[in-house]
Amino acid sequence: MNFEFTQEQRALQEAVRRFVDKEMPKHLIAQWDQAGEFPDDLLDKMAELGLMGASVPLAYGGTGGGVMEETIILEEIARHSSSVAMAYGMDVCFGAVTVERHGNDEQREYFLPRLVKGDCHFALSMTEPDGGTDILGAMKTNARLDGDEYVINGAKVYTTGLNIASHIFVVARTGRDENKPSHGLTVFLIPKDTTGVTYSKIKKLGSWFLHSYEVVYRDVRVPASCVIGTPNRGWHAILDTLNNERIFIAAVCAGLGRAALEEGIQYARDRKAFGKSIGQFQAVQHQLADSLVELDLAQLSTYKAAWMQDQKLDCSVQAASAKYYASEAAFRATDRGMRVLAGAGFTMDYHMQRYYRDIRQLIFAPVTNEMSKNFIAQAGCGLPRSY
Ligand SMILES: Cc1cc2nc3c(=O)[nH]c(=O)nc-3n(C[C@H](O)[C@H](O)[C@H](O)COP(=O)(O)OP(=O)(O)OC[C@H]3O[C@@H](n4cnc5c(N)ncnc54)[C@H](O)[C@@H]3O)c2cc1C
Repeated sequence: MNFEFTQEQRALQEAVRRFVDKEMPKHLIAQWDQAGEFPDDLLDKMAELGLMGASVPLAYGGTGGGVMEETIILEEIARHSSSVAMAYGMDVCFGAVTVERHGNDEQREYFLPRLVKGDCHFALSMTEPDGGTDILGAMKTNARLDGDEYVINGAKVYTTGLNIASHIFVVARTGRDENKPSHGLTVFLIPKDTTGVTYSKIKKLGSWFLHSYEVVYRDVRVPASCVIGTPNRGWHAILDTLNNERIFIAAVCAGLGRAALEEGIQYARDRKAFGKSIGQFQAVQHQLADSLVELDLAQLSTYKAAWMQDQKLDCSVQAASAKYYASEAAFRATDRGMRVLAGAGFTMDYHMQRYYRDIRQLIFAPVTNEMSKNFIAQAGCGLPRSY
């Protein structure tokens, strides 16, 4: 067993650290967050460094890395901003994977080189107002074939990143089989500015510069060539990317939690009470020690899932465990960080409030931790499905 990164992976980690320190220092992140503005050129700069193609095959202009490389990049970016990491992950860990595995040659040749250059960005429009957990039961958005076009009608919620996305993955019903609700879904990849697509911003607790939207699709006509994968078999394509998505979120959580720990340690060193730094008090030390232990385990669990995925081993339970554990560990690290900073943590002068706000969504998105545990109980413990 070898816990070391390869030389290339270490070089990648150092390059991303330098990039993050230079191009997205924390004081700028705070400004973007307050202004609600994702900088136009940030993903372009990532593309220039080769990060957008980190796991895209060489044939499409990428550098042909794997999930481990994505994990290293995500963790480093999330140590400054989970919102930027989420935007990156939507393109590289979700969009690129979906197109590469389920797109046809034409789609791969169109999208992947553009993604590597930073010329196209993706959002996912799947969750509907009636619920994100029982997605098959809640989905009403439908697409009807009319000649060689589909006509999409419906409404989605929480579609995230439309402020930077050029294209949207829309999941819609194209058929219905009462005995098999997973049959009859189709995934479309359509330009964001397609006629009939309208969207409005949702005000939310965190991730203030990566906006989420309610999206209405009204008689949206798209050519059949927008279908990714096989019509009516979209659920298969969605399930196929779940492990990547879980590992992506776990890596973001590991990085975000680490940021909270680092700010907590620095504050514990600097802040004085009773004539000494508060970091000398055991009650403060134990909070930070608990976070360090849990974040270390979160990172190990995430790396193991990434490694398994790269080895093409079945990592579904490990990926779900990593997402569940890393999000809870990072949540607890931000909560402890708020206690250590006390009043200062509640002000906008420190980053802790941002970490504390931003982690909340990762407890339940893209999958709730309750559903992750349902899956772990079923697939990992071999217990019957509970719902
Ligand atoms: C900031 C943000 C960004 C998002 N980004 C996107 C995006 O880009 N694209 C997209 O499509 N969606 C997105 N989502 C949606 C997200 O995936 C859903 O919020 C999530 O799947 C949960 O769905 P829900 O909020 O409707 O909760 P519900 O499904 O209503 O669940 C409510 C509660 O019931 C529990 N529950 C339900 N069923 C069970 C069960 N069988 N066992 C145990 N507990 C259960 C859940 O765990 C949860 O605690 C985003 C959401 C947020 C808040």
